[in-house]
Amino acid sequence: MLPVDNHVHTVWSYDTSDSAKMARCCEQAIAIGLPAVAFTEHLEFTDGGEGDQVAGITTDARWWGRVKPLDVTGYLAEVAECRERFPQLRILSGVEAGESHLFAASASGIVRGGDFDRVLGSLHAVPHAGRLVAADALFGLMSDYEVMRYYFAELIRLIEGSDLFQVLAHLDFPRRYWPRGAHLYTEAPLEEEYRAVLRALAKTGRALEINTKTPMASVDMVRWWREEGGTAVSFGSDAHQPHRVGDRFKLAVDIVEQAGFRPGRDPFDFWRA
Ligand SMILES: [Zn+2]
Ligand SMILES: [Zn+2]
Repeated sequence: MLPVDNHVHTVWSYDTSDSAKMARCCEQAIAIGLPAVAFTEHLEFTDGGEGDQVAGITTDARWWGRVKPLDVTGYLAEVAECRERFPQLRILSGVEAGESHLFAASASGIVRGGDFDRVLGSLHAVPHAGRLVAADALFGLMSDYEVMRYYFAELIRLIEGSDLFQVLAHLDFPRRYWPRGAHLYTEAPLEEEYRAVLRALAKTGRALEINTKTPMASVDMVRWWREEGGTAVSFGSDAHQPHRVGDRFKLAVDIVEQAGFRPGRDPFDFWRA
């Protein structure tokens, strides 16, 4: 049996099109044999509220202008509708919280007030020179590997500074935008930095996501996770279109199994070491 897809976006996320219908995602999940799917819509904020650390950091309008707040009520109503319509599929509610260490008060106000089965933690933007900028905007400002080091340093601040999320999503997000080509990116030169991130995450007892939209993690990297004390792995397609739900899961399962992780007793649970 395939693992749960714990990372799917629908029309309720600001960066999807009208074709990203929740019901279509459910049909796709059933068609390819997924036991469950989690709809983890983007939870991003356009400015900091009271108590948020981001106050004092200017936000980059190019990236910021696109972000729209999540309509939690509308979203949860559609989750309830889909649960009725597709009883053969376990449907988990969720959010993908961006930079929840910088927006701690705003983010926790929504997460703790809502009924979410899955909360992913993400770092899409990083503070740089007094501004919050999209992570890929760092390429060109420093060497390519320096970008990854800069990103990982902030990622550790996210892990240590926020207990809001259960799963760390796409831990090396900027690799998607590797200037020489995403397929040419390799983790090996950054082993030490990866291990530092993985160690920090393992200490908090949370799960590492294998993101199948990002160029795939290597078996070595998933092994580092295990060696640094990681015990749980979550699979996520990061689909923004229905046909991407569960995308490349067979390959991801192969990688995770080679690194020593297995399905839990509960088919809806994370995979365990
Ligand atoms: Zn993301
Ligand atoms: Zn996502």
